[in-house]
Amino acid sequence: MQNITILGATGSIGQNTLAVLRQHPDRYRVFALTAHRQKDKLREQCREFKPEYAALDDAADAATLRDELREIGIKTEVLYGADALSEVAAASETDIVMAAIVGAAGLSPTYAAAKAGKKILLANKEVLVMAGALFIQTAKEHDAKILPVDSEHNAIFQALPLDFSGNLAAAGVRKLWLTASGGPFLDLPLAELAKVTPEQAIKHPNWTMGKKISVDSASMMNKGLEVIEAHWLFNAPPEQIGVVVHPQSIVHSLVEYLDGSLIAQLGAPDMRIPIAHALAWPSRMESGAARLDLSSLSKLSFTTPDLARFPCLGLAYDALKAGGIAPTVLNAANEVAAAAFLENRISFPDIAKLVAKTLDYFPIMPADTLEAVLHADRQAREKALSIIA
Ligand code: NAD
Ligand code: MG
Repeated sequence: MQNITILGATGSIGQNTLAVLRQHPDRYRVFALTAHRQKDKLREQCREFKPEYAALDDAADAATLRDELREIGIKTEVLYGADALSEVAAASETDIVMAAIVGAAGLSPTYAAAKAGKKILLANKEVLVMAGALFIQTAKEHDAKILPVDSEHNAIFQALPLDFSGNLAAAGVRKLWLTASGGPFLDLPLAELAKVTPEQAIKHPNWTMGKKISVDSASMMNKGLEVIEAHWLFNAPPEQIGVVVHPQSIVHSLVEYLDGSLIAQLGAPDMRIPIAHALAWPSRMESGAARLDLSSLSKLSFTTPDLARFPCLGLAYDALKAGGIAPTVLNAANEVAAAAFLENRISFPDIAKLVAKTLDYFPIMPADTLEAVLHADRQAREKALSIIA
């Protein structure tokens, strides 16, 4: 029996994780569930999974949840505030941490899990984008295992040798290929991009996800963040990471070997598959996802991404090559931009412009301590907000 803490339990990945765990009550026990503001959803999750701890951001919300749980006879202890997330992530009872908070807010608790040597199921890609070097180094020092949940990285992880330890050359790998759906605006005439609405942007053709990652998918910043994520997870230089547009989202990514072999992982676009894989690794278990019916797949297509349509992808490669705090700044500016777009304060093409302007403003400094990363994150947010104003 393994104890699991889910950071961001009420989100899309959090709920999919609980859907997998629901099928395996004999293997996993939910130790802690955290949410930002969704108190009612968290209460229902506590009612079903009866964790030891639940955590919310706000003290008053936590007090209300405490009362509500007591009324229905649930003994879950309710904590609040940012430090509570790190506490439950690093608690000695926790064996596995599902890192499923969206954005920079997940960095500190996921870092705490790494320092405590936990098995980390990583969905929160922004952690690696902001602080990849530091996070990977810390995980190594404390013997924490990082298992990728992002579908592309989980696919690559599955397509690499089981004993892969970070040496692509030794594994005979020529290139990692990330597939990208292209999002809802893949074929929209370029001139119309300036008029797209948040509602159109978050309507992803293949996946149901949180709002921020849906906007990132539409701008292809999501793929840019994933290039940086792949760099840190697999120790791959930028030139060994390729992106290919595959609108069907059936091939989740590929590894190209020196002999010309391409090993891919295929499956229905359902996050329960990579979640179940990471949970059960190195064995396998049921995920509850629909089976892929090969005979119903009439067409799988692959094309090169158009960087004029998706400038965010180019910006992410540039930030990765620049190194230091550049990816931290990219991520912070993008979080501000995505939020501003969702609030109708900037246009869709402004997202890339804002990220580029913010990146231009900051000299490249090292990102070698958590403080340096958090400082760069704060400054980049302030700058991006001031550019919008
Ligand atoms: P979501 O918006 O649906 O959920 C986010 C979760 O984080 C919620 O539980 C929310 O309460 C919590 N949260 C938000 N802000 C917080 C804060 N300031 N402090 C503490 N908790 C906070 O997002 P999602 O789609 O589940 O994505 C989560 C992460 O997983 C993201 O990094 C995303 O890029 C990654 N991811 C998601 C998918 C997907 O299918 N949804 C796929 C691959 C990777
Ligand atoms: Mg992905």
